[in-house]
Amino acid sequence: IDFRKAKFLISAPDIAHLDEHLPGDVGVEIAFAGRSNAGKSSALNQLTEQKGLARTSKTPGRTQLINVFELDEHRRLVDLPGYGFAKVPLTLKKKWQQALGQYLQERSCLSGVVVLMDIRHPLKDLDMQMIEWAVESDIPVLALLTKADKLAQSARMKMVNEVRKHLADFGDAVKVEPFSSLKGIGKSKVLGILDEWCKP
Ligand code: GDP
Repeated sequence: IDFRKAKFLISAPDIAHLDEHLPGDVGVEIAFAGRSNAGKSSALNQLTEQKGLARTSKTPGRTQLINVFELDEHRRLVDLPGYGFAKVPLTLKKKWQQALGQYLQERSCLSGVVVLMDIRHPLKDLDMQMIEWAVESDIPVLALLTKADKLAQSARMKMVNEVRKHLADFGDAVKVEPFSSLKGIGKSKVLGILDEWCKP
């Protein structure tokens, strides 16, 4: 699959009633999830080699749209809203969380979830929740440790190994890789995994 061919398909304005806004539940969908500011937009832009595909925002949590990008007729990337943004009211937060959980648990075409976490502070509660939901639904997870360029090689590998150890109970269902949108670290590895998920 040529991820550079990704193009914007639709935005779902509201996480509630998500199923009403999304394309039909067929083909292959790969979702990207992560805390606000984890580097999700930058990663999507890097993987698709399109600078403006997903907006990188300096005000985390502001855009709460779900954006769907089409790779080809049968395959889509879904950019889920960033979670864990402090300034969002608790009730709204709970609503998102519930809707995200529902999406992960009920979307049949969902073939993989990329959970992006800043390598300097991974595995927060909501990250674990996302990973658990996906695994419980038999959906493979790629835990991407973003901004890997912020750590020196040794510290980076130490963190990767710690996270792998922490997630080892999930077995092969959860992969852990370092990533940097800035330096291209991990890119070919990630594209290889996404390509696997894209197979029917
Ligand atoms: P999002 O909220 O998850 O979509 O995160 P963004 O992609 O908007 O990135 C949040 C911030 O982290 C921005 O200031 C980016 O420039 C920065 N950032 C994202 N990826 C990287 C990376 O690989 N390396 C470094 N050093 N900074 C990054």
